[in-house]
Amino acid sequence: MIINDKYIKNILTEAENATDSDKEAVLAKAENREKLSHMDIAILLNIDDEEKLSRIFKLAGKIKNEIYGNRVVIFAPLYISDYCVNNCVYCGYKCSNKFKRRKLSIEEIQKEVEILENRGHKRLALEFGEDYENCPIEYILDAIDAVYSTKQKNGEIRRVNINIAATSVENYRKLKEKGIGTYILFQETYHRETYEKMHPNCIKGDYEYHLTAFDRAMQGGIDDVGAGVLFGLYDYKYEVLSLMIHNEHLEKTYGAGFHTISVPRLKPAMGNNSLKGFPYLLNDEEFKKVIAIIRISVPYTGMILSTRETAEFRKEAINYGISQISAGSATGVGAYKDEEENLKENLQFEVSDNRKVGDVILELMRDGFIPSYCTACYRMGRTGDRFFELARSGEIKNVCQPNAIMTLLEYICDYGTDNLKAEGMEYIQKSIDQLEDEKIKEALKKQVDKILQGDRDLYF
Ligand code: SAM
Repeated sequence: MIINDKYIKNILTEAENATDSDKEAVLAKAENREKLSHMDIAILLNIDDEEKLSRIFKLAGKIKNEIYGNRVVIFAPLYISDYCVNNCVYCGYKCSNKFKRRKLSIEEIQKEVEILENRGHKRLALEFGEDYENCPIEYILDAIDAVYSTKQKNGEIRRVNINIAATSVENYRKLKEKGIGTYILFQETYHRETYEKMHPNCIKGDYEYHLTAFDRAMQGGIDDVGAGVLFGLYDYKYEVLSLMIHNEHLEKTYGAGFHTISVPRLKPAMGNNSLKGFPYLLNDEEFKKVIAIIRISVPYTGMILSTRETAEFRKEAINYGISQISAGSATGVGAYKDEEENLKENLQFEVSDNRKVGDVILELMRDGFIPSYCTACYRMGRTGDRFFELARSGEIKNVCQPNAIMTLLEYICDYGTDNLKAEGMEYIQKSIDQLEDEKIKEALKKQVDKILQGDRDLYF
């Protein structure tokens, strides 16, 4: 059993009785970078006085900075099909919502990809509803081919992550053979009773099958898996502890835990406009605490925050642990083309950060971050346990930082406005100067010259 409800509840109940000195002891342990036990994590989750919370945020920021430096990876979601046989209470695409469903033809997928490529994207997360008739695995595989084979003058999509419903080892093997990056699947909630209530009368309602999806993905050869909880469905403390336990299960069994953890927060959606009837919604302070505690507990796992959150919140959360953000997202099938033609879409949920990609890039730079489109790791075979080994040794920094700088330079040269070009070139020069290792600095300068002369897709 991966998730033992009684065990988790016992720990959470016991942690409620933690004294001030218990909390101090756990904070000291975390600050000394010692491995935290389940009880330690539960105690951190119970901290709510301002002084100790600010220590949690400070530590999370420090860890983020040491491991990820100032890089922030950028991606976009691409909705391919909204046919869905499931009835997830919270989701705009649930089958009881009646609207004209769509799935993109290969030509339509190519059109969407062209638009995204022309906005500078190199990494996509493909999103599909679950429907074996309208959206079988063969269609999903063809969609991946369509994305990878669509190329524009200035570039192509270099990493395709996939978010499809839990499936079989055989299907995961097929996805792996297509060269996907991360297989993403959100558990939604680890609390079985809530899970069953949120997924009534549908395939997705099988808690056990959903929970063991990453085991099957790993058995099918996918070693980068991306987890997530839909925060707001159940008690956040239960969810964070469960995420950590699930991660440990994968580490122990397959040698690698989650490659990424996404932290979506419940948003209004078609048929669920008011979020009434969801008693576990998190306020911003609680949500920030969740992000920081996950960062402290699993320092090497990428953390993803989408445009479900506002620009202001995302800006702050990057300081506590978020390492990847989506930008310029549209959460509907065919929505990028429709957006260009000013048509309205059936969206899966509401988006709160509507800034264009260029504005996100500019603001990140002004805040001292390096927006990164890097896709080198999985193309160099740095996946699964090999990725974590490099990350733990600290060596990963030596490739990630120059790679991030190179992809930012490509973006600026190929998609930047005059304004962005002027600010960006200066910023890149400053970022190169700040590199400590002279050998890496020299190697990077050579690659930068090549990019300025027109070479593309260079990486270490
Ligand atoms: N249909 C696929 C599945 O069921 O796994 C994945 C596609 S869906 C884009 C990805 C995620 O969106 C879901 O796993 C869910 O967590 C999230 N989502 C659905 N409704 C939402 C809402 N109202 N607010 C925020 N996130 C939502």
